[in-house]
Amino acid sequence: MQGFITTTREEPEKQDVNKRLQTFEEIYQFFNNRVVARQAERCVQCGDPFCTSIGCPLNNYIPQWLEAIAERDLEKAFLLANETSPFPEILGRICPHNRVCEGACTLDDGYGAISIGAIEASITELGFKAGYQIPFPGPETDKKVAVVGSGPAGMSCAHFLLRAGIAVDMFERSDQPGGLLTYGIPGFKLNKSTVQRRFQIMEKAGLTLHLNTGIGTDQPLEELVAKYDAVFLGLGCTNGKRAGIPNEDHPQVFLAMEFLTNVQRRLTGLSWMERFGVRGRRVVVVGGGDTAMDCVRTAVREGAESVVCLYRRDAANMPGSAKEFHNAAEEGVNFMFTEAPKSIVLDDDGNLVGIDCVRTRLGDPDATGRQRIEEIEGSDHCIQADIVIMALGFDHEPYNFLDALGVERERWGNIRTAPDSSTSHPKIFAGGDCHRGADLAVTAAAEGRRAALTIISKLLD
Ligand SMILES: Cc1cc2nc3c(=O)[nH]c(=O)nc-3n(C[C@H](O)[C@H](O)[C@H](O)COP(=O)(O)OP(=O)(O)OC[C@H]3O[C@@H](n4cnc5c(N)ncnc54)[C@H](O)[C@@H]3O)c2cc1C
Ligand code: SF4
Repeated sequence: MQGFITTTREEPEKQDVNKRLQTFEEIYQFFNNRVVARQAERCVQCGDPFCTSIGCPLNNYIPQWLEAIAERDLEKAFLLANETSPFPEILGRICPHNRVCEGACTLDDGYGAISIGAIEASITELGFKAGYQIPFPGPETDKKVAVVGSGPAGMSCAHFLLRAGIAVDMFERSDQPGGLLTYGIPGFKLNKSTVQRRFQIMEKAGLTLHLNTGIGTDQPLEELVAKYDAVFLGLGCTNGKRAGIPNEDHPQVFLAMEFLTNVQRRLTGLSWMERFGVRGRRVVVVGGGDTAMDCVRTAVREGAESVVCLYRRDAANMPGSAKEFHNAAEEGVNFMFTEAPKSIVLDDDGNLVGIDCVRTRLGDPDATGRQRIEEIEGSDHCIQADIVIMALGFDHEPYNFLDALGVERERWGNIRTAPDSSTSHPKIFAGGDCHRGADLAVTAAAEGRRAALTIISKLLD
């Protein structure tokens, strides 16, 4: 180990910009056996590895799988990567690495962090290719758990229950499984076949998937509570926020998820709506997070005439992944920083023709330490647009069907849980965005795993 002195950090090869804009395929390749080992050799094997203890919400065995792959033991690395994570090949691709494990890597300070995410995804892909399998015992207890929602939280909970030999029935209101992995995150970050492969693995291990089955609509939650030994809720949090400006209910103003889901449905060959098309249009996306980056990059691939990203703060304060911002800029997105939207502009015929904005500057920090946004007087101006997409974060759905069972919510509507993921109902557990608010796939996975471990200890002890 200690190869960081002689070997620099590498990223996997990225597809040429002009080629990648023609498709929705993933833009990154994987490391081959030789490069993945060489990159893993850079790890200094810290006594207290912050990448694991502070950086990774799943506390993955990062130094251990780095050591295994540096020693050319792919099978050991594959099994270690799959020990704590329910889908390392997915999180290795989509985690905002600079904000989690890689941001906590000792080498990040001056040498370039270990490429943890790319190595994790490469180890898992190379392992699948070599035919290695994740050990599942098959249903070997008489216990059965219902998981509601098939996003990362539900997938993770189901994965760890199946690993403990507990059968799982998963209920999903949508026609495709995967939650935001399927209908939110675009294919250029995560191929949909990668998500489908995980479901195939879990179905082989004893998962029964019930699609088009909304709990609280198609089937009452009370029925699940009566029939199963425990119920996990991984309901997500996808009610798009609006900016609260005049005319934003105009049909040429879309919410991020309306736009992204519609494109994904068309690409999958499912029913979709022409009215969310952006070909040949001038598109302005409002927001600076990962969802905004996904919208701008999707609009470019969809053939928009121009794509502008409007953000109230500066580049340094963007909340999303630095990598995705750079990819968007490379793909031709025009970023306009320190701009706050004031109103949607319509012409005399009622068509959307622009968005009125005011320039901002960052002032003193508020109580949370974040700099306040101050509007600059007299700086009003209009940015021309045909379509405006709001990518401003998400609120909880009301989850009214939980009331009859007394499942308590917090002030903002999120499901209240104890540290072990139990709710105020003794048979119901919850985790992921419906508990935390819109966050990350890896934190949803960590909460799904925590709930599974609690359920396992309650049912099998
Ligand atoms: C556009 C976009 C891009 C993102 N990019 C990234 C990224 O790059 N990296 C990252 O880490 N995170 C990213 N995220 C965040 C991440 O996707 C979420 O934090 C994560 O998916 C939350 O997982 P979850 O299982 O809690 O919820 P979800 O993924 O939302 O899944 C919830 C599921 O529950 C189903 N459901 C809800 N209610 C019911 C019901 N009553 N009955 C049956 N089923 C129900 C829903 O249909 C859905 O399938 C992104 C989010 C968005 C919107
Ligand atoms: S799951 Fe995410 S945070 Fe954890 S090691 Fe993998 S890429 Fe890093």
